[in-house]
Amino acid sequence: MKLRIAHLYPELMNIYADRGNIIVLVNRCRWRGIDVRVDEFGPGKSPAWDDYDFFYLGGGQDREQKLVARDLAAKGAGLAEAVEQGAALLAICGGYQLLGQYYRTGAGETMEGVGLFKAYTVAGQRRLIGNVVARSSLDGNNLELAGFENHSGKTFLTAGGQPLGRIIFGFGNNAEDGTEGIIYKSAVGTYLHGPLLPKNPELADFLISRSLSRRYGQEAVLAPLDDNLEEAAHQAAVKKTRR
Ligand code: GLN
Repeated sequence: MKLRIAHLYPELMNIYADRGNIIVLVNRCRWRGIDVRVDEFGPGKSPAWDDYDFFYLGGGQDREQKLVARDLAAKGAGLAEAVEQGAALLAICGGYQLLGQYYRTGAGETMEGVGLFKAYTVAGQRRLIGNVVARSSLDGNNLELAGFENHSGKTFLTAGGQPLGRIIFGFGNNAEDGTEGIIYKSAVGTYLHGPLLPKNPELADFLISRSLSRRYGQEAVLAPLDDNLEEAAHQAAVKKTRR
């Protein structure tokens, strides 16, 4: 089996080592004998959408987001269509914000989003910083996601928007309604950095398996891996919220 990953804006959108999420996806595929390749697409370069089953967009500050938002206007329709057709996607923080309807910054500027997620973001008065634990359910598998957030943008889901999880500790989407992130089909948006996937292997496998099943259907059953180290990393992250 082959998995083709399109990493969007790797240079501009990579705070808190969000690129680490790609390393996890690649390794978890290789350990299982899945042929995986990552191609990078910066401003001005668009993937052939049908060639990819997984799209990734990391976090970034307002300055980088502004550059990306301008370029995303040209990529948005292709990306949204790929998600409609079943491609998997992971977008972190600033990337998540830009895939919603819009992001209004503290300076009062509005960046148009792709509208792929039923959500919008407005800058709040304070930064929402710290460790996070959220309860989630992916394909009927109940799990706790652990990560770290740092954003001033407050994201609100609109009608029909499904949160990725419910906050146990931390702020999540907006520090008001207890939601964290969003999930639409096989596309996930989240505020969790860390990077996220090294300590949340179940989420990594959910995304890999969704990407593969778009191309290979039922055949895409993932072999189990020894996740002792990943579990220890997860527990260490959760423990930080219980001090
Ligand atoms: N600039 C955005 C905010 O502060 C996103 C930051 C991030 O990606 N961590 O809301």
